[in-house]
Amino acid sequence: MMIKELSEAIGVSGQEDAVREVILKAIKDHAKDIRIDPLGNVLAIKPGDGTRPDAPRVMVAAHMDEVGFMVLGVDSNGAIRVGAVGGFDPRILPGLRVVIGKDRVPAVFNWKPIHMGYDRTTVTLDNLRLDIGATSKEQANGKVNVGDRAAFITAYREHGRIAMGKAFDDRVGCAVLIELIQGEPLPFDVHVAFTVQEEVGLRGAQVAAQAIKPDVAFVLEGTTAHDLPPVEEDPEAPRTSPVTELGKGPALTLADNSVIVDRRLLNHLRETAEAEGIPYQYKQAAIGGTDAGAIMVANAGVPSAVISVPCRYIHSPAAMCNLDDAANAARLLRAALARFTPAVLARAGDME
Ligand SMILES: [Zn+2]
Repeated sequence: MMIKELSEAIGVSGQEDAVREVILKAIKDHAKDIRIDPLGNVLAIKPGDGTRPDAPRVMVAAHMDEVGFMVLGVDSNGAIRVGAVGGFDPRILPGLRVVIGKDRVPAVFNWKPIHMGYDRTTVTLDNLRLDIGATSKEQANGKVNVGDRAAFITAYREHGRIAMGKAFDDRVGCAVLIELIQGEPLPFDVHVAFTVQEEVGLRGAQVAAQAIKPDVAFVLEGTTAHDLPPVEEDPEAPRTSPVTELGKGPALTLADNSVIVDRRLLNHLRETAEAEGIPYQYKQAAIGGTDAGAIMVANAGVPSAVISVPCRYIHSPAAMCNLDDAANAARLLRAALARFTPAVLARAGDME
């Protein structure tokens, strides 16, 4: 699975170009009707073998964008002000290296040295600046421009079956979708979408669903895993839900802040996993949002479900996932599609 190249490409929301290039190269010999829509979504069809002409129109989506920063301006001393693109905890930022713009200008979030005493300032983006080594506004302006994105920069590494890298939310979903596209044909055409601007409001998926007009949709995600709690968390306190755990298989969403998953699709995914002996887990907290939230309410409504790879430390410089979970997400997606018939949507599972 090509997670490394996807992870190391930079695609902060609204500027997904480098990720799009990686994806186009990966799918060009395996998909038809490949097109880039006006917002930058990559839409394509994975051709089926035509053995199930009565199949519903199925869309599978993964988002290309990642969280990061946007340059808002430069102070007179050359320090760069940035705003957030997507959500993260500012406490992870002091001292962190990022790169700015297409030239990948290296920068660091400034912070007072420990030699001057422990800095108890509450960390917010407002009291941080990016330092590129410029000494004046004029000098910085030659290197970065207002509107440039700044991104985390982390080399991808594997240690056994554990992978570490940036932007696994949602490049691991993109990798799973590429795996599907590069694999054997399914019994029917599958409409695929690599979407833009998920992290800032599920925007690309909304128009992708309007263009594809699917009967049903599956969304692939890298989702929260908090299965290694910080040591200072009180062991006596009620345990925080890990949401998902690494190594226990792909996670199925019941509901999150954006969607209540279609019960028939959830049953279909669970039955598929059990029939095929694929491990799975439920996402244990109804947090976060996914493209499924936008696709579900597109057109006249699209029953939607989410398959996620559990990832520690999403929306931070270095996420971690288990490659077996990613492989099993790909197996589950393929098997669920191969077994998909109109009966999945016809049955009254949601009335039980
Ligand atoms: Zn995501």
